[in-house]
Amino acid sequence: MKILLVEDDLDLGNGIRVALQDGGMDVVWVRRLDDALRSLHQGHCDLVLLDLGLPDGDGMALLAQLRRAHRLPVLILSARDTLEDRLRGLDGGADDYLVKPFVLAELLSRVRALVRRSYGAEDGMLEVRGLSLNELTRRVRVRGAMADLSPCEFALLSLLLKRVDRVVTRRFLEEQVLPGGQANESNSLDVHISKLRRKIGEGYIRTVRGVGYVIDRQDSTAQEGA
Ligand code: CA
Repeated sequence: MKILLVEDDLDLGNGIRVALQDGGMDVVWVRRLDDALRSLHQGHCDLVLLDLGLPDGDGMALLAQLRRAHRLPVLILSARDTLEDRLRGLDGGADDYLVKPFVLAELLSRVRALVRRSYGAEDGMLEVRGLSLNELTRRVRVRGAMADLSPCEFALLSLLLKRVDRVVTRRFLEEQVLPGGQANESNSLDVHISKLRRKIGEGYIRTVRGVGYVIDRQDSTAQEGA
C-alpha cells in the first residue's frame, strides 16, 4: 500500500511518515503542491493524505485537480476545524477529513478503512481460488500455506489481484515494479513472473501473449492449458 503524504510541517509529517511505515505502508512524503502533482504523475499510489495550508497554495486546489483525473481516496488533514471547513473539504471530493491535532492511531485506522473501501476488500485482503494476499500484513498464502515473496513479486501479485479478470499490460507492470527502467535480462518482468509462479503455483497467472498477464477469478487452465 503506497501513501502520498502532502504535509509541510516537518515534525508532524515525520511523525505520520514513521507511523504509516510502522503500519507496513510505503510513504512518499512531499511538502509542496507542485511536488505532490509531480509525484502523482510519476506513479501509482493508493491514497493521498492532504494538508490544506501549504507553502505554494491551498490543498483544495490539488483536491479539485485530483477529482478531475483520479479516483484516488483523499483524506484531508487540517487545522481548519469549523463545520464549514469540513463540509467544504468533503463536498470538494475528499473521502474523509481529520482535524489537527489528531492521534496517530486514529489516522492509521481511517487510512486502513479508506483503502479497504477503495479495494472493496475486507481488511486489505485480496483473495482468488485459495490464493490470498493481505495488503496490511503483507502475507501471501496459497491454500493456507505461507508463500515467501520478494517485494517485487509481492507488488506484482498485488497489482494483478486488484484487477482480477482484467488483463494488466506488461508496460504497466514494468513501470510499477521496475522503476527507472531498470529492466535487464536477469531482472526482467518475465523473470519475476516465473519466480512468482514457482512460489504460488502455475494455475493463477495467465499470460496473454504480446499484451500482459491476468489472474482469472475462475480457473481457466482447463480450457486454455497453462
Ligand atoms: Ca500546513
